Amino acid sequence: MSDESRAGATFPLVCPHCEKPTLATVTSAASGGGHQEPPYLLELARCGHCQDPFMMVEEDFGEGWDGDPVILWPQKRRPLSFKVPEALRREHEEALQCFSSKAYTATAVMVRRTLEGVCLDQGISNSGRRPPLFKMLEQMKNDGKIDGRLFEWAQELRVLGNQAAHFTGTEVSRQDAEDGLALAEALLDYLYVLSAQFDAFKARRAKDNQEGDKGSSQ
Ligand SMILES: [Zn+2]
Repeated sequence: MSDESRAGATFPLVCPHCEKPTLATVTSAASGGGHQEPPYLLELARCGHCQDPFMMVEEDFGEGWDGDPVILWPQKRRPLSFKVPEALRREHEEALQCFSSKAYTATAVMVRRTLEGVCLDQGISNSGRRPPLFKMLEQMKNDGKIDGRLFEWAQELRVLGNQAAHFTGTEVSRQDAEDGLALAEALLDYLYVLSAQFDAFKARRAKDNQEGDKGSSQ
């Protein structure tokens, strides 16, 4: 496939900007690789619906172009791991949706809900009555479930306080909403991915050492 022959080609996809099914047109293409790295084809294309451009790459790992290019731009957020409980992923997903529709106060509310969900899922709650978010996060820190830095980060986020939870007449800024999302993501990753992986690693090491001991005593 030559670079030139791709320009002007059309192909169907769901537009990464307007998210509508559309026919996109390749406006320019360039290929490279084949020596140190697999052959690749970079394409700039334009959505037939919203007319916004996007950048794609296809690689040939020995079986030709697979016809399923990866979109490099616009960048999508990294999806959460499936190790994160579904109910919490749903909450976080909704927070992201609020953010992408510029509903920053609603984003902050969803971030709070996500964090509360995390604490409850981790078994943090007093007898029946739900303690305030910061008390639950503090408990998680004291129980060694989260790192002191994550707790400090949460404490520093004004957006997690009353600003979002209650009517104050002030709006939540985009930056505050984004900071809240980043914390929620870090917390979910820390608890359900990193900690789980570390525990599995420790268990494997302990088993290896045990087997090693057995081996040496024979
Ligand atoms: Zn579009």
